[in-house]
Amino acid sequence: MNDCIFCKLVRKEIPTKVVYEDDEVFVFNDINPKAEVHLLIIPKIHIESMLHLSEHHHSLMGKIMVLTNKLALEHGLHGGYKTQINTGLKGGQEVFHLHVHLVGNR
Ligand code: AMP
Ligand code: ZN
Repeated sequence: MNDCIFCKLVRKEIPTKVVYEDDEVFVFNDINPKAEVHLLIIPKIHIESMLHLSEHHHSLMGKIMVLTNKLALEHGLHGGYKTQINTGLKGGQEVFHLHVHLVGNR
């Protein structure tokens, strides 16, 4: 068990509305949305940040990218959207569990 807030969401120790979930990936709404749609897409395993990726993560990260686009379309963002991955202290990362921000207005 760890104290990571996103791991606690994955384990359902903190309640949240689950937008999407499978055996590897978990998606929920950002608590402080910057746009009409603001989802966070995370791997279920605890990876601290992009700085901690290796070749082992090729398929997982590829899956996350393709899923991000699928969710964008499902949420009406056909005209486009922004994705952001803050990495490390100097990258402005606040929660140290790798996450993709999917942000857009319909
Ligand atoms: P960053 O690490 O800079 O990419 O930002 C972390 C993001 O997580 C921020 O946009 C927060 O609003 C969001 N966040 C933090 N805690 C929660 C939570 N319990 N549920 C949903 N989103 C959260
Ligand atoms: Zn975690």
